[in-house]
Amino acid sequence: MCSVSNTPSTALPRGTPMPHEGADFPPQPAASPPLGGAASQSQNSRTFNLTFHGVGDPPSAIGDITAESHYWLTTDAFECVLDRAKDWPDARITFDDGNLSDLTLALPRLLKRNLNASFFIVAARVGTPGYLGPADLRTLLSAGMNIGSHGMQHRPWRRLPPADLQHEIQGAKARLEDLLGIPITQAACPFGAYDRLALRTLAAAGFTRVFTSDRGWASSATWFQPRNTITASTQLHDLDRVRSWSWPRRCAHQLKLALKRCR
Ligand SMILES: [Zn+2]
Repeated sequence: MCSVSNTPSTALPRGTPMPHEGADFPPQPAASPPLGGAASQSQNSRTFNLTFHGVGDPPSAIGDITAESHYWLTTDAFECVLDRAKDWPDARITFDDGNLSDLTLALPRLLKRNLNASFFIVAARVGTPGYLGPADLRTLLSAGMNIGSHGMQHRPWRRLPPADLQHEIQGAKARLEDLLGIPITQAACPFGAYDRLALRTLAAAGFTRVFTSDRGWASSATWFQPRNTITASTQLHDLDRVRSWSWPRRCAHQLKLALKRCR
């Protein structure tokens, strides 16, 4: 395994350990139970994390519609994936970016199927056109959903200077906690981008789950959680293919991610 980073990191406490895949870090119960509920799984069983972004048509207020369209699903396509996922007791649903469609289109369809999800919010976007506002976030919480951080400005966390990482990770956590009055304990890396300094900064900030976009399976109780992104071009058989990875294939992927975390 890798050694602790020698990268200059003035804001991190000395000795901040490097989280790794094989153990929970720090030991905490899963904050976001899989769809089937925590009781339906053992403490460290496999989890298949899914990531959505927007549902319906992307609003012009959020910027580059052409680029965004790839990550937005029609309501029919969204329901199709949900209907498949609700039969997977190991599935965990997440949403990135804090789009307004999380509330208007996704939440009713989740509730209709008695599904739970985690929503990762870009702190500086809260209340801006096209995105969820504070009251919307409270509505999601009161509906039994979880709220996590997706950074302050939606910048990639790989190769960011330490001061910028502090702002993106600890600053966003503090802002969301001030806004909602609850601990924010889960984070999702914008663009799926991270390096070992970003992971150490997340660990030092006290996050108990960190979600990436690395595909494949996760262990339900571990700190590091690869997810499978659903885009407009994703087919259900694409998901079935990943779910049916053989044991050697899963091991090879875990090794690849272990090396990636050392960058
Ligand atoms: Zn994002």
